[in-house]
Amino acid sequence: MNKKSFALGLMLLSSSAAFAAGPHWEYSGEAGPENWAKLSPEYGACAGKNQSPINLGGLIDAKLKPIAFSYKAGTTDILNNGHTVQVNAAAGSSITVDGIQFDLKQFHFHAPSENLIKGKSFPLEAHLVHADKDGNLAVVAVMFREGKANKALEKAWAQMPSKEGDKIALTAKLSSQEILPKNRDYYRFNGSLTTPPCSEGVRWLVMKASVSASKEQIEAFTHVMHHPNNRPVQAVNARPVLE
Ligand SMILES: [Zn+2]
Repeated sequence: MNKKSFALGLMLLSSSAAFAAGPHWEYSGEAGPENWAKLSPEYGACAGKNQSPINLGGLIDAKLKPIAFSYKAGTTDILNNGHTVQVNAAAGSSITVDGIQFDLKQFHFHAPSENLIKGKSFPLEAHLVHADKDGNLAVVAVMFREGKANKALEKAWAQMPSKEGDKIALTAKLSSQEILPKNRDYYRFNGSLTTPPCSEGVRWLVMKASVSASKEQIEAFTHVMHHPNNRPVQAVNARPVLE
């Protein structure tokens, strides 16, 4: 098993067994982001040079090709793993980037946003996590601004698992498409998982357009999490950020 598929394995494992995915870590204190790399050798990548999230700035015009989205309605369950609330996708949804198909595995949320766009923070950010057949990852990030209620969140939040470790079968038909903005222009950079083991080599695709969520919907999430679940921005180092 290579490093990336090991990381994905951990992530997928954490979807069913919240406490089995490696040494304990948190968003603050002794086990917080500054110390993740020291918590365990398997978290060593957290001190790497190509980490996520970042402040997206110094943008380079790269005439990025559109992401080919092929999303179908289909979600299986919603779970609270103590670090986020995650919706697992049914098989059959994918994106194509660089001529490679990446299958959608799950999407989950961070409040406030992890990535910043030109220094701007958003109250909520969704990460749609995809993997190709070799375990390489591609994450589509969507920013939420406060405004009108979001239809997709309405369906998901109706079954919000309030306790850490809870996992509930989703009864509402929810398409991951509903999370995306209409305009799919995006920023791109090379980054990592934003949670331990912080594995690098992740294609980050950040939607330029935000979608709206109501104040109540954002608060419903932060209430269930009890604490912010955003890793602070990491040094960009030598990486170009493309648009
Ligand atoms: Zn995330």
